[in-house]
Amino acid sequence: MHLDVRCKLFAEYSTTEELSDLLNSTEYRQNRSMHIGGGSNLVFTRDYDGMLLHSQSRFINITDETADTVTIEAGAGMVWDDFVKYCIAHNYYGAENMSGIPGEVGASAVQNIGSYGAEVCEIISRVHCIEKATGKAITFTSDQCRYAYRDSIFKGEYFNRYIVTSVEYTLSKVPQFTLTYGPLKALGQKTDLTLQNVRETIIAVRNSKLPNPTETGSVGSFFKNPVIPENLFTALQSTYPAIPHYPAGNGLIKVPAGWLIENAGLKGYTVGGACVYPKQCLVIANTGNAAPDDIVALYKHIIATVADKYGIELHPEANII
Ligand SMILES: Cc1cc2nc3c(=O)[nH]c(=O)nc-3n(C[C@H](O)[C@H](O)[C@H](O)COP(=O)(O)OP(=O)(O)OC[C@H]3O[C@@H](n4cnc5c(N)ncnc54)[C@H](O)[C@@H]3O)c2cc1C
Repeated sequence: MHLDVRCKLFAEYSTTEELSDLLNSTEYRQNRSMHIGGGSNLVFTRDYDGMLLHSQSRFINITDETADTVTIEAGAGMVWDDFVKYCIAHNYYGAENMSGIPGEVGASAVQNIGSYGAEVCEIISRVHCIEKATGKAITFTSDQCRYAYRDSIFKGEYFNRYIVTSVEYTLSKVPQFTLTYGPLKALGQKTDLTLQNVRETIIAVRNSKLPNPTETGSVGSFFKNPVIPENLFTALQSTYPAIPHYPAGNGLIKVPAGWLIENAGLKGYTVGGACVYPKQCLVIANTGNAAPDDIVALYKHIIATVADKYGIELHPEANII
């Protein structure tokens, strides 16, 4: 979010041996701690009075290969988009729709990142971790991670319990594209479609809608898209016939939070240095000098306004600390 916040201690490591030494250190044992990746989904509301841990493990290895698939292990500290670029350069299919998502490999497995019709849990096969309290290594299968929309066991039951050290992804060597998302549909007509074409289209769409993280502080989508019962949706639709919606299974309907926010008149709404990003109302942007309190006041105002207007409670997708 480009906020001026500090932590008491910051520790980086490159290998599991260094991590083990760190977990045995007095500084670690005497302070509360939290592991971060690139910080692209974090909102620190004040200084962090503890130790932030960060991985610099950036290796990439092929761990298994069949005629049709390849399994690749990547270190938690590798930049996610570098992993995507590697897959595209080697003609491995499955990561391309998630081109350009900021952050690192470790967080991809915590957050269950996704975009343009793809979710990372579809390609994750195993997540390798170290338990913070014991220093023991443990591997979770994708099923054990209980992936759901931007959610995993690491955000719920196992919150702050494990450090992800590396992630194994299984990709297809056989060409297969997911082009269901609007701007990608036209690519389906191309006879010589490549992974690079998909990447370039996605990066162009992202650049047109989302703030560039190096210039403008944001966490991407600040809120999750709410999933509501059909009867509530039908009632809303009679008042707002234009409301966009998508089936979410089990009689539930997903409604874009960005539309709810914009239609509530909050496009560009500002509190101090924080604003509802006009090109995509799901994003809260730091216009340059936002204080943490501005972000907090703005996101609470959005939740209250949306609840008042539609009877829907928005939940932050961002990690608010
Ligand atoms: C402009 C912009 C666009 C975005 N677009 C998308 C998008 O399209 N789709 C999407 O899904 N997300 C998107 N995001 C959100 C963000 O990119 C993801 O949530 C990403 O996974 C965060 O990665 P990070 O490395 O920065 O993690 P951080 O923000 O540093 O951490 C995120 C969480 O992961 C935990 N964590 C990080 N590393 C580890 C580790 N090694 N072990 C244990 N826990 C760990 C942290 O404790 C925290 O809970 C966007 C963000 C921005 C700023």
